[in-house]
Amino acid sequence: MEKQQKSLESFTWEKFKSLQNNPDIFKNYYNYFFALSNWIKQNPDVVDYDMLSIYRLNKLLNIDVKLYLTEQPEISLISEPKRMFSRKPETVESLVMRIGDTLWDLVKRRSGKDCPNCKDDELNYVIAESIATEEKEIILECDSCGWTEKKDGSKWVGGLANIFPINKEEAKLESIVFK
Ligand SMILES: [Zn+2]
Repeated sequence: MEKQQKSLESFTWEKFKSLQNNPDIFKNYYNYFFALSNWIKQNPDVVDYDMLSIYRLNKLLNIDVKLYLTEQPEISLISEPKRMFSRKPETVESLVMRIGDTLWDLVKRRSGKDCPNCKDDELNYVIAESIATEEKEIILECDSCGWTEKKDGSKWVGGLANIFPINKEEAKLESIVFK
């Protein structure tokens, strides 16, 4: 049965928007990541555990951001006040998706390889941790169609997994160079 989405209360939205009262959050990517992830952590009554796991936030919220930030994220901090804070989403889920996508954009590691499935997007490196065995593996993944493959290019069929970002040190151990 599909779970009913939670409507986003004006009160919660105003509280979220008040993050902008501190202009420092747009000063650099680190501050921005920190402000958004902290807001989620501080509002467990709004963002429940299921949502964290659906939007792949459970691990992302607790990383050492400095080790993971991409050098040139694909979002512009100048546009963020408008993109993130000007239009109220209808549901909590939409807000969490907007925040989650943004946090992921800040740590996204491009591979330079086109997706062989949809050919519309580039594959990203991520770490998949199997829920059954807790084994970790670096895989490539397409944001657009969800295609996943192993480092050697064969299709990845690892089953249910938690997906984490990958940092430069972890990549170096596997001789991976980000694009
Ligand atoms: Zn694809």
